Parts: sequence; structure tokens; C-alpha cells
Amino acid sequence: MLASLGTMPELARQLSVLGGCTHPVRLDGHRTEYAVNTATGEIGNVLRHLDSAALPAGQLLVRCNNRRATRCAACAETYRRDTYHLITAGLRGGKGTPEQVSTHPRVFATFTAPGFGPVHNRRTDGRPCRCGTHHDQEDAALGTPLNSDTYDYEAAVLWNAHAGALWRRFSIYLRREVAKRAGLTQRDFRDHARVSFAKVAEYQKRGAVHFHAVIRLGGPEGGDTSPPAWATAELLTDAIRAAATAARIDGPQIDSRAHTFAFGRQLDVRPIRSADFDGGQDLTERAVAAYIAKYATKGAETATGTLDRPIRFLAELAHARISDHARRMIRTAW
Ligand SMILES: [Zn+2]
Ligand SMILES: [Zn+2]
Repeated sequence: MLASLGTMPELARQLSVLGGCTHPVRLDGHRTEYAVNTATGEIGNVLRHLDSAALPAGQLLVRCNNRRATRCAACAETYRRDTYHLITAGLRGGKGTPEQVSTHPRVFATFTAPGFGPVHNRRTDGRPCRCGTHHDQEDAALGTPLNSDTYDYEAAVLWNAHAGALWRRFSIYLRREVAKRAGLTQRDFRDHARVSFAKVAEYQKRGAVHFHAVIRLGGPEGGDTSPPAWATAELLTDAIRAAATAARIDGPQIDSRAHTFAFGRQLDVRPIRSADFDGGQDLTERAVAAYIAKYATKGAETATGTLDRPIRFLAELAHARISDHARRMIRTAW
């Protein structure tokens, strides 16, 4: 597998296409391309033959394309940049989206998880945490339960498993709520307007998933068409609040306890401005795109100190370097 001096330039070329990927996927095999007469379907001469064993690295190397920064920094960075450009295009135009999209009503919304019991936190009013301590920003206790015996681990773990379904329920309700406010039936609605989403899941310190989303109102063809006159950021905000409050998902029944899931009461909805200047409660397009892109590459492990790969055996937990809270979350899930 060690390259001889003669193949160094070829090896360098083979590695350069990986763009810094630290965990390339190694493939063995061969592929032969033949000339084919498209009129007769007759197979002709060999055009190209690729044998992975003949490559400088002895194998074909392909980027791992992992989105998680803790797994492969280079591939996650590529994904973060792609996401940033995608979100920016959806907000201010570009990459096939017309610039007039920046005049469409759009908001940035954060949907939180419900409470599962008190956790250690840093208060914004300067008062100490309920435990009496002023926690440092880096304190590992942040987000962990004040009392792990009463913390609802069962619901917390089930929440993460049901949050995706709850989001889908919310998105259906949102279209309904927007249509209702516009005085349209759901069937007529799609001839007038379209609701578009860009959503990321973020794991909070306590290990519960919550969502950030850019939600935009466009014309019947989305960003390519002008929204109707009734479509305002205020109407959209109002519809989001109604849909998020109404959305419910039934979970399993465990030991005669029937679980139901809804978003937490804290719901933050803010309009997105075009202009890139600071001040006020509104967010700029750039700030939102950067935020979404950041969370798209940030898995649960960076926020909570949990594992970034599925575990095969519960026994592995004993050797993994993770916090007690994360350990308990995983153990309950298992
Ligand atoms: Zn990679
Ligand atoms: Zn505390």
C-alpha cells in the first residue's frame, strides 16, 4: 500500500480529490467501459478499464461525506458551506431563485422541546441556578437534571424519537392555518400560495432535540412567483403560533402511561430582514443562513457530550467518555 517514489505525483492527485477528507471510504473493484453502437446495441472495444488495485493508494478512495464535524471536519465544512449557499439563495435569490424572493414574507422560528424536569441552567436575570450556584458557561452540569431520580428520562428519550413526526404534523397544520387566514379552502390554497421550509434539528444541552426553521410564503410556484397581497410576515407568524400550539403526536403506551408529544411553550418567531445591519429584533438573511448551516453540521455530540455513532453493545457505554446525563439518555433509549 505504501507508494513508491515513482507513483507519488499520482498518489497526490488521487488524494487531492478527497478535499481533506480524513475518513475516505476505501473501495476495491474494477470497472470496464465498452463502446456501444447506439443504433444496433452492439458492444464494441474496451474504452477504459479501471482497477482499484492499480491505483496509487491501492484502492479507490471516495469522500466520506459525513456531515458531522466531529467525524470529518473537511466533509462537514463542505456540507456547511453548501447549506449556507442553499439557504441564502432561498432568502435573497441566486442559484436559480429570482432576487424578488427577498421581498417574500419569511420568518425564522425556533420550536423547543417540552419540559421533562428542572435542569441546571444559567439565568439571564443574574440570579443563580435553582441549585444555588452561578454556573460557568463551560460547566458540564449545565443542562443536566437537578434531580436525576425525578427527571422524566422516558419522556425525554421518546421526545427525540417523535419530534420528527410532530414537525410533519405541524407543517400540515401550518398550511391549513395560513389558508384559513386567507379565507381559502385547502384545495384552493395551492393555486395561490406555497409555504416553504428549511429546517434543522439541534440538540440542546439537556439532550432534547429542538428545531430551527426558515419559513417562507411564496406564490403558487414557491420562490419563483410573487405571493398574494394577503401574505404578510404577521399573518405567517400568527399561523405558525396557532399550528405549533395545536400540533400533537401520540406516542406509545408504556406501563399504562400514554405518551403524547407537543412542542414546548417557548416558541420564538422573528421576521427576517433583507438589509444587513444590526439592531432591532429582526434577523438578517446572512445571520439566519449562517445559523442554519452551523446546526446542519452540529450533531448531538457537540452540544451534549454524547456519542456521534450508534452503539452496538450497551457494554461499550462503560468505556465511552461521555457525561452521566448523556449515558442515562442512551441507556433509557436502549
Ligand atoms: Zn470525509
Ligand atoms: Zn445548578
